[in-house]
Amino acid sequence: MSDNAYYVPGAPQDLKKDHIVRAEGLGGLVKCLCVRTTAVCETARVMHQMSPAATAALGRFMTGSILISESMKNENDTQTTIIRGDGPLEGMTCVTDFGFKVRAYPMEPVVPTEYHKPGKINVGAAVGKGSLTVVRDIGLKEPYVGVSELISGEIAEDFAYYLAKSEQTKSIVSLGVLLSKGQVTEAGGLMIQLLPGAGEDEISYLEKRASGFPEISFLFSEGFTPAQIIDLFMGDPDLKYLDGQEVEFKCNCSRERMLSGLAALGKNDIEEITKDGKPVETVCRFCNSKYVFEPEELKNIGKN
Ligand SMILES: [Zn+2]
Repeated sequence: MSDNAYYVPGAPQDLKKDHIVRAEGLGGLVKCLCVRTTAVCETARVMHQMSPAATAALGRFMTGSILISESMKNENDTQTTIIRGDGPLEGMTCVTDFGFKVRAYPMEPVVPTEYHKPGKINVGAAVGKGSLTVVRDIGLKEPYVGVSELISGEIAEDFAYYLAKSEQTKSIVSLGVLLSKGQVTEAGGLMIQLLPGAGEDEISYLEKRASGFPEISFLFSEGFTPAQIIDLFMGDPDLKYLDGQEVEFKCNCSRERMLSGLAALGKNDIEEITKDGKPVETVCRFCNSKYVFEPEELKNIGKN
């Protein structure tokens, strides 16, 4: 079968570009999502000048956040995921906007890199023990907030545990970031979820498929596309692809947003930071863009 046979409507024509594919399997009882995030993770690495352990942790975290954000339906929907841990990384924050636009930062971009075995970074050692919080703002009066403890800090099982505990959804989650000479060469994730009506038969089928399934970053490095990886995992001749969509690292910061962020400070704080008459520099935590404001611009913006 040629690659074209795996083209899913909505996916970029160039299937090497980062994108997500959705499908349904086992007669509509299982939801399948696979995403390639190589460029997303490498962009984040360069932006935040991260060490390998931080790159692997943030890369897996962004990839998992994208996978669990797919249920957002409206233009202004947004999801914030936060990990707080007692490891050297301290934590990470990721925002996924509708349309799979993602931005994220680690608390501590340079942390020591430990290995489970050669080539296999010990992400759990960098993250430590802590919690995963998911905030979904989908235009309701109050945002939805779910919290669960971290199982291992290896991220994939932390997301699976979160989904089971907070959202009562049984899921298989696999996340991988492959590095070579400190750079991201492949990254992506797979999420398989049981839909209402699925039972023991579907669970045992999926458990069998999962056992011994290759690492996701290895499959990408072998040239598999997200649609092919879903097919390989499911082994279901009636698999139904739903759609595809490009995924990218995109920050939404601007001078106006930064200024309104400063305006949220009190008048006294504004006076304090402008009293030496020098320009005030602010840095966006998500993308490290710098914004410089003259003290004149900041006059009268603070809250009383
Ligand atoms: Zn930014």
